[in-house]
Amino acid sequence: MRRKKLKDQKPSCLLGAHFSIARGLDKALFEAKAYGCNSLQIFTKNANAWKERIVTQKEIENFERAKLETGITEIASHTSYLINPATPEKKKHKMSCNALVQELIRSSCLGIPYVVLHPGSHMGAGDKEGIIRIAESINEIFAAIYAKTHEISTRLLLETTAGQGSSVGHTFEHLASIISKVEKKINLGVCLDTCHIFAAGYDIRTMEYYRKTMDDFDSIIGLDRLCLIHLNDSKKELGSRVDRHEQIGLGYIGLDAFKYIMNDDRLFDIPKIIETPKGTTDKDWDEVNLKLLRQMVRI
Ligand code: FE
Ligand code: FE
Ligand code: ZN
Repeated sequence: MRRKKLKDQKPSCLLGAHFSIARGLDKALFEAKAYGCNSLQIFTKNANAWKERIVTQKEIENFERAKLETGITEIASHTSYLINPATPEKKKHKMSCNALVQELIRSSCLGIPYVVLHPGSHMGAGDKEGIIRIAESINEIFAAIYAKTHEISTRLLLETTAGQGSSVGHTFEHLASIISKVEKKINLGVCLDTCHIFAAGYDIRTMEYYRKTMDDFDSIIGLDRLCLIHLNDSKKELGSRVDRHEQIGLGYIGLDAFKYIMNDDRLFDIPKIIETPKGTTDKDWDEVNLKLLRQMVRI
């Protein structure tokens, strides 16, 4: 259901950033609130290590309380970068599936509605093989979860990729094909990353190209599958297939595309998260980017 835009009030679209859980899972929610966000993304564990993280009952309670206090419920968890459900290596594949099961259960326990996954890299086996392997892995993962618990409320979101290396998911057809092979489609969604689709060759820099790209997404995947948007500019050119995020408006995508997205009624209720470089200088880039995006929203 679309939220009604009140006449005298600027519509508050769902906007957020990726925040650290270094000081605690609940602290990420308070940090998001301090930035004026009504949505956020976190890692629920160290994203660069296989080691799992068991969340305690206390952490779950604190997280619940932080949700109530901040009013933030649109939360995404980004999976570990090590996970590759498309890998032909048996051991790595098993570790990947297990990590995904853990991530989905952990996120479900924390009441996190979305878990974002880079679909995977085929490591030379080819896109077609990769797609089959990813879909089979997801079916395995959901079966394992349903065998352990009755159901999970968390949705697994396949993120569009830049097509770097042998990564699968750089065309909308790839994602549609994976989805078509998954049995429990109700637990599946898509996360659109602006930097990634641009690097993959989808232009969004003019209204005409933006419309074409979104119409393609709608006809190939379906906008009803789109659950999350990552707002990032790109350090690399259109079709470069290189994944390098840039501050909003300072990369090859430029400001206009973000204006189209921020004012696209079809995307109003979809949480939009920036994953732009935090920077090391005195400048608070999250604040700069979030302010810029908020100002783009027309009354
Ligand atoms: Fe990602
Ligand atoms: Fe992303
Ligand atoms: Zn990226």
